Order: sequence, then C-alpha cells, then structure tokens
Amino acid sequence: MNKWLQDFNLWLRIYRLSIPLAKMLKNVYMVERRWDWMKLLWIGVDDTDSVNGGCTTYWAVTLMEELRERWHVGLPRLIRLNPTIPYKTRGNGAVAIPVWGDIDIEELADLCRKHLDNNCWLDDRNTNPGLVIVEEIHEKLRIFAKKALRDVMTYEEAMELIEDLDIQHYALRNGRGVVGALAAVGLDVRDPTYELLTYRHPSRFGTQREVDRNSVFKADEIAYPLVWDTVDRENDEVVFTPGSPDPVLFGIRGKSVFAIIRAFLIIRSEEIDKFQLFITNQSTDMHLIPEKEVDVLRDYRSYRLKGVVIEKPYTHIGGHVFFYLETRFGKVKCAAYEPTKQFRNVIRALHPGDEIVVYGSMKKRTVNLEKIEIIKLAKIVDYKNPVCWVCGKSMESAGKNQGFRCKRCKTSAESKIEVEIPRELSPGLYEVPPRARRHISMPLIRVKGKNIHPFR
Ligand code: ATP
Repeated sequence: MNKWLQDFNLWLRIYRLSIPLAKMLKNVYMVERRWDWMKLLWIGVDDTDSVNGGCTTYWAVTLMEELRERWHVGLPRLIRLNPTIPYKTRGNGAVAIPVWGDIDIEELADLCRKHLDNNCWLDDRNTNPGLVIVEEIHEKLRIFAKKALRDVMTYEEAMELIEDLDIQHYALRNGRGVVGALAAVGLDVRDPTYELLTYRHPSRFGTQREVDRNSVFKADEIAYPLVWDTVDRENDEVVFTPGSPDPVLFGIRGKSVFAIIRAFLIIRSEEIDKFQLFITNQSTDMHLIPEKEVDVLRDYRSYRLKGVVIEKPYTHIGGHVFFYLETRFGKVKCAAYEPTKQFRNVIRALHPGDEIVVYGSMKKRTVNLEKIEIIKLAKIVDYKNPVCWVCGKSMESAGKNQGFRCKRCKTSAESKIEVEIPRELSPGLYEVPPRARRHISMPLIRVKGKNIHPFR
C-alpha cells in the first residue's frame, strides 16, 4: 500500500478510535491516582466459558456495557490465578469490575445474575460459573486471593469466607467459579501491567482469525520493550492471538498504556467489534513461592528453588529435556518441554555441579521450567597429553606408567595435563521464548540488572 494511503488509514483509525481511547485513558488515570475515596463496589466473576467458546473477559465486557447505562464503571482487572489448577480452561483468568454511583445493590445483583444465566457456556461440565459483589475489600479477602494465586483452594473455603464477610454471591452448577471471583477482587497487585484485549465480531466466532502478520512485527519493533509477547522473533511467530474458538482476536500486553495504544493503531486485522483495556497481574511472577516459605514441595504449586545439578541433562522422546537438581528438599526432577524450543539448549548445556535457581510449576513431582538463573558454573576439565616446551607439539605416551615424551626433542613429562573446557553458558537469568510463556510469568525484559538473557 502506498505511504500516503497508509498514513491516511492510520489517521482515520485514530479519528474513529479517539473517543473510546480517551475514555479508556481517563479510567487508567483514575486507577493510577487511586481515587479510593469514591465508594466502589466490585463485581468478581469467573468460570463462564468452556473450551468450545466464550471467555470470562468477554462476559465481563458485555456486562460492563449494561452497567454503563446506569452507573460509572472503572478499569476492570484481569487476574491470573494458580496456573497449575486442573479445572482451568486456558490461562486461569478471573475478572473484577469496579462500579460506583448511586447504586441499588439489589438492582445491580439482579442485572449480574441475569447476565450470568444468559451468557455462560454451560455445554462443558467443567464450566461452573461464580459471581460475587464485594462492598469492602477486607484483609481476609486479600489473604484468600494471595492463596488462590499460589495454592489450591476449595469451594468450602470460598463459601466460609463469603459467609464470614457477608458477601453477595451467585453461582451455577458446583459454583467453583466463586474461588476465582473472590480472588479477582481481593488480590493486591503491587506491580500491575496492562492488556488491551480486542474482540471479534460475533459472526466470525470460531473461524480463522485474520491478523496482518507484518503489521504485528512492525508494532513489536516500535513498541518493544514497553509492549511484549506480541511476536516471538527467534521462532518467527505471532503469539498474541489465541488458538481457541473464543471471542478474543488478540491481546496487547505491556507496562505503558501509550505504547499499547501505539501498537494497537499499527496492527491491521479483521473488523474489531469491541476492545477493552484491563489492569492485570500478568507478567509478574506472583505465582512463585520462594523456597524459604515452605517445608515440603507439593504438586500444583509453583516455586523458586535453589540447587545443584546432579547429572547431565538428557533428551527424552518428543524432544523434552530433563535433569535432576539436588535441593534442600532432596532430589527434584526438572523439565524443559518441547514447546520451549531454544530454551532446551540452555538446559542441555548445564553440567553436574552447576549451581542454579529454577523457576516453575510442580506437576507429577516434576518442575516445569519457566526460567533458570545460573549462579555459578562448575569447572569442566579434560586431561590431555602434555605439550613439548621446545617444539610446541603434543607429546606421546612413553609406555605404560612411563609418562610422556617428545621423540624429536627428547623432552619428557610425567603425567597428562588438566585443560579447562570453556562453557557455552554464562551466569545470569535465562527464560523460555514468548511462544511458551505463561501469562503470569515475568519476561526478563521486565527484570532489572545485569546478566539477563531475554528471549525476544
Ligand atoms: P479463561 O481464561 O478462558 O477465563 P480459565 O482458564 O480462567 O478460562 P476457568 O474456566 O475460569 O479457566 O476455570 C478455572 C476454575 O478454577 C474456576 O472455577 C476458578 O474459580 C477455579 N480456581 C482458580 N484458582 C483456583 C485455586 N487456586 N484453587 C482452586 N480453584 C481455583
């Protein structure tokens, strides 16, 4: 397309999007200024979708459209919870929506209940929607939320808290969704990030997504590192579109709202029906439990563990790479699975004796690696024939137990010499590429300091 036409298209998009974008920025400003004096009510929701369709963020965005007709609605939160939970559909996300104004709680609850009854994907037995309306974020709710991020909670624990704090709630099926709904409202996020989610026109749900690949790479070139995980350059892939039949077209993640908007304006795609900015705990590593906080390691939790590599890593059928780490909890199996691609080369280059810290989730007694930090590399040595100090050539064996000699120069030496083999790795942090990154894992471009080896 010629440049003039491209510029014209860009300005046309800016003009068309200016009002919704301005409203979005007003909401960001209000969150960042912490206008807590406004009496906010929080609606928490989770588990409205199935693998066949729907998305809890979409459910929330359509509810927000109804809410806006009566009250003020702020910037919603998209909270990622324990990533190992077996009942999750995809990324274990739950949503919380702030509402304020002259609110009649019964009217609000009624509207939310109807929206839940009419807009959930109940085709799957694994969909168990839950909704809460919270008037005050109590310390007990904050503690529950932190646990839901790092631990496995039960429906009974959620209901106990709901009764204790007298929280309005509504649930369908087995009601497990209330766990995520409570956590989405209660989680204290210290270092939040943003995600701009765009949604497809309903007529296109379930069809192939059309996003112009070149424009995504261009947006990444301009907005990176304030925006991340739109593309995986080393694997030459666009990674910000889901692969499932849900309503999301793509999501742009980052720390700067302006950089996200800039990227958004550059990306060309099929028609966008709606878009919504969320404040999130994505890319924060909030799920990781430091080892000093626990006495035993359990499945379905994520850890940061220090240890020493015991044996040389090995590659298994399917390209998965495994090794064992000696930790203060004993011998722990660690894995870099095939989708982590080049990260496996880092793992393969580890050697017994290397001191490292692993970051990842434990399932079937194996840590699924998200990152590693190499603290100290072991010295690897090889033994070679000594070198003649006259001619500089390698000496030969002089016979069993008779040392080495150089026939030509008549020089000799008693034993082989120790040679240090250079290591392919250097100390520092290494991560999986964007294609294999969990929503909640912190990309290394967000980590300050030296010796960072980010994948882009
Ligand atoms: P999507 O991202 O598309 O919304 P999802 O991956 O978030 O889907 P859900 O369908 O929401 O998955 O299912 C996750 C279920 O697990 C919810 O019912 C949620 O309440 C529950 N859950 C979340 N965290 C925990 C936890 N720590 N302990 C127990 N249950 C949890």
